[in-house]
Amino acid sequence: MEKIYLDNSATTALCEEAKEAMISAMESFGNPSSLHYEGLKANKLLCESRQKVLSALCVKDPKDGELIFTSCGTEADNIAVFGSVYAKKRRAANRIITTNSEHPAIENAMKKLEEDGFEVIRLSTRDGVIDLEEFKNVMNDSVLLVSIMMVNNETGAYYDVKRLFKYAKSVKPDVITHCDAVQGFMKVKFSPKEIYADLLTVSAHKIHGPKGVGALYVSSDILRKKQLVPIMQGGGQEHLFRSGTENIIGIVGFGAAAEASAVSLSENIEKMDSLRKYAIQKLSSLDVRFNIPKGAAAPHILNITLPSIKSETMLHHLSADGICVSSGSACSSHSHHISASLHGFGLSDFDSDCSLRISLSEYNTIDDIDCLEKSLKAGLDKLVRIRKK
Ligand code: PLP
Repeated sequence: MEKIYLDNSATTALCEEAKEAMISAMESFGNPSSLHYEGLKANKLLCESRQKVLSALCVKDPKDGELIFTSCGTEADNIAVFGSVYAKKRRAANRIITTNSEHPAIENAMKKLEEDGFEVIRLSTRDGVIDLEEFKNVMNDSVLLVSIMMVNNETGAYYDVKRLFKYAKSVKPDVITHCDAVQGFMKVKFSPKEIYADLLTVSAHKIHGPKGVGALYVSSDILRKKQLVPIMQGGGQEHLFRSGTENIIGIVGFGAAAEASAVSLSENIEKMDSLRKYAIQKLSSLDVRFNIPKGAAAPHILNITLPSIKSETMLHHLSADGICVSSGSACSSHSHHISASLHGFGLSDFDSDCSLRISLSEYNTIDDIDCLEKSLKAGLDKLVRIRKK
């Protein structure tokens, strides 16, 4: 059976560059904090990888900011949110602005801050667009942090974070802006400075790197003004922000994957974009609804709703044909939460439960989409439809 992987927003296959670099890094077992030659060897790998990821983020000038390696995107999001909020000694500013369709790494951190007495305002994301006027109504001097994702992991909506962050800074220059760019990194072109982001999260396993490695970009402004504190205490690695001996092998894999992706970024974006367009055209002959953002969309995510067939049922049918897709984000499929992102497209709980996410990488081909269409068609013909309550 041919294997067709169309779940690249959940995770991606490891690229050859990352694999080779990691195998070779296994020879250096030193602790990068040690001062002897084994330590220096490991530290060199760490510094080189940091530069590779920074360079993929278009941070060319070391004076612009730093990169903190973490154990995943979730950890980087948590450091950004809790670290910036708890850095404030005087709590005159108490308001945090985010959206109603963030990844659980942000949404659950926000819930915790609400329990701690912060006011959290969640902007709506109707049809995959954040309304600037709605943002203007809530953005004032009492705002401490604005945290908005770049690309929605369920619908592929590409939010105009630059416009929102720029406006936030015009109202309050020292407001902290954080962008969860886990689904945007190496899928759209940006630099943290260009989008007015003080803090920005990325994750290795979404760009053909290994699982268990993420990073947080921290601007030099934040470092200078000490607007971020560590949320974990320990030996002070990663500029004091993420204690714990670094996962050198994983970090080397991240650096190699970022370097390889950055080299062919334009080409990869073009490839994913044309495949996504092809998928829309090909699947439009089927009885499915497309949940396409009204504004900009990332090139790699397509969300569809099936006519009264549970996504889980279709997922198993496709999997039996060798095709991997997802019923939403990989994390939300654990918690069975009803997607706020899909509600924003006017979907009921029932229809959200019948939605599939198809997510591409540059490794996919037109043949993959043709096979998906064929298997989906067969599934639509044979699977049992559930009745709307
Ligand atoms: N943020 C977004 C938008 C994501 O899609 C994900 C993972 O799916 C994460 C954060 C969490 O990243 P990680 O799996 O590295 O913890």
